[in-house]
Amino acid sequence: MDRMTRLLSHVEVDPTTGCWLWTGETSWGYGRIGVGSRGKGTYKHEYAHRFAYETVFGGVPPGMVLDHFKCERPLCVNPEHVRPATNRDNFLRTNPIFACPRGHPYPENMRFNKKNERVCRACWVIKGRERYRLKVLRERGKEVTPMRRRLEVPNDIAS
Ligand SMILES: [Zn+2]
Ligand SMILES: [Zn+2]
Repeated sequence: MDRMTRLLSHVEVDPTTGCWLWTGETSWGYGRIGVGSRGKGTYKHEYAHRFAYETVFGGVPPGMVLDHFKCERPLCVNPEHVRPATNRDNFLRTNPIFACPRGHPYPENMRFNKKNERVCRACWVIKGRERYRLKVLRERGKEVTPMRRRLEVPNDIAS
């Protein structure tokens, strides 16, 4: 059986959205399909949406994942409903956060640290300024009260 026939034998089309809903085996919420040959020891499971994309468009660029940008339905294997994306793009799009906890707008303030965690650049600048302020106040022998969740660092070291 060719790839397209195999694919379509596990697909139910949703007439409203055009989604190709997978009716075969699933794992982690995604459709999966066996590829390769058991006899030759090359048998493995592949994501059904990936299998569909490769069947129609010929392949996914290395290092990229397929993002369900159109319908957000993991079971959909319509190759037109997914597109190759880097993991980072996919993460940002599926975890939309519009500001840091202090309210600095994303994405312009968003950076990723070495552990690939989201950090806020504006907060980083503020923390640096605050560290400097505390240092100056301490040197002057003033009472120091640490800043808590404030957008601006008080300018009390200028005077
Ligand atoms: Zn879809
Ligand atoms: Zn921030």
